[in-house]
Amino acid sequence: MTKTVVALPGEGIGIEVVDATCDLLVGAGLPLKILTPPQTDGATPTVAGFVPDETKRTAREADGVLFGAAGPATTNVVSWLRWGMQAWAGMRPIRFRPGMRSPLADPEGIDYVIVRENSEGIYPGREGELADLARVMPDLRDRSGRTVKEYGDGRFAVKIVTPAGVERVARFACRLARARKAKGKPGKVTCVTKSNVLRRTDGLFHEITERVVREAGDLTFEHFHVDDASRRLVRFPKSMDVVLCMNQYGDILSDLGAETVGGLGLAPSGNFGDGWAYFESVHGSAPDIAGRGIANPTATILSAAMMLEHMGLGAEAARLDAAVGRTYREGKTLTPDQGGAATTRQMAQAVLAAYRNA
Ligand code: ATP
Repeated sequence: MTKTVVALPGEGIGIEVVDATCDLLVGAGLPLKILTPPQTDGATPTVAGFVPDETKRTAREADGVLFGAAGPATTNVVSWLRWGMQAWAGMRPIRFRPGMRSPLADPEGIDYVIVRENSEGIYPGREGELADLARVMPDLRDRSGRTVKEYGDGRFAVKIVTPAGVERVARFACRLARARKAKGKPGKVTCVTKSNVLRRTDGLFHEITERVVREAGDLTFEHFHVDDASRRLVRFPKSMDVVLCMNQYGDILSDLGAETVGGLGLAPSGNFGDGWAYFESVHGSAPDIAGRGIANPTATILSAAMMLEHMGLGAEAARLDAAVGRTYREGKTLTPDQGGAATTRQMAQAVLAAYRNA
């Protein structure tokens, strides 16, 4: 039965990598109808447009949604996909495949998943003037005893952590760790916070995650503060399995993790809410290389593979994933970020050829 996919490229290199990926999916003969509804109304290159209601409806009704990369004109598209539709769990696999240009001496075997809490924490921004905060909370003090007023002029941002928000993403991480354990992985959830400094907010995230993972019974729990965790992702990446991060820490550590296996062009993601999911590369619109046809399509192709799995096309997803692995192993048709001379389209077509020959 034909399934419907909505492709929203965003802008910059998002357009190039989504085009190349959609052509690959069509070329592979997958049972998909790919729709490309208008992304925005009233956008200019520097002013964000609004997502049309009809586009929202089409995306909500689709079996799969693939996004490219956001920039200034399309920031509302990703805001709607993630925050409007409450995709509260971001799943970002970090996996090395031989042939990828890792800066590490021994990357073979790196294979873990960052789960990013997508809906709370310090994002999306809630900011204001310090004077307003001082007025409503005159007794609020930092740990040195200083009141807000004592800082004088300035601004603040609010970090939000709720037990319900932590519990659902901790359960998501447990389900993922259990599914990976069934395939031979260690069955471990590593929680990342700064609970030694932010004892109430990050402390709550740490405490609830630890309880949920320990109650699961069949999984190992560990916790690292974010500074220590960033060091470990470089030094001991193979010791990681499922790494559950608060929103901003997950944003930062997933770029770091992507770089350890070869770069931002390789990192896919799936974003999940209640009865909702969409898939996108971790990278942004990369204005420095946009329009030149040299962006690496791997992150978007692997995001599409995650989307296929979510749509119930598991065998096709595994075959596409394996085709990416083979393209890197052969190393003949890679984009410049991986040391090759191929264009975005040539690399995607090489993955298609590997898919067909599987
Ligand atoms: P955002 O904040 O929107 O995530 P960013 O500041 O992290 O964006 P990106 O656009 O993600 O920046 O990319 C950072 C750099 O990484 C780019 O300037 C580009 O050089 C490189 N890069 C990102 N994606 C790719 C890709 N698919 N192929 C090759 N290089 C890439």
